Amino acid sequence: MPAVRTVTCPTCNRPVEWSEKSPYRPFCSERCKLIDLGAWASEQHTIPGEPLGDGQPEDPDHEPPNGSDPSK
Ligand SMILES: [Zn+2]
Repeated sequence: MPAVRTVTCPTCNRPVEWSEKSPYRPFCSERCKLIDLGAWASEQHTIPGEPLGDGQPEDPDHEPPNGSDPSK
């Protein structure tokens, strides 16, 4: 049987079989692929929902939407 070439998953550093068994190579799984892409995206783009601090300044005098009282 031929020797199976393996690569290292960039996300978790696990050996990944370089064959049709690993559709997400060089990642070991779709999860690791998405994690790597997510890390790349977070460096290139702003994460949606992340407050920037400018553009929409918070108004300290504005009342909260609902009287949140987590202590109750
Ligand atoms: Zn992995």
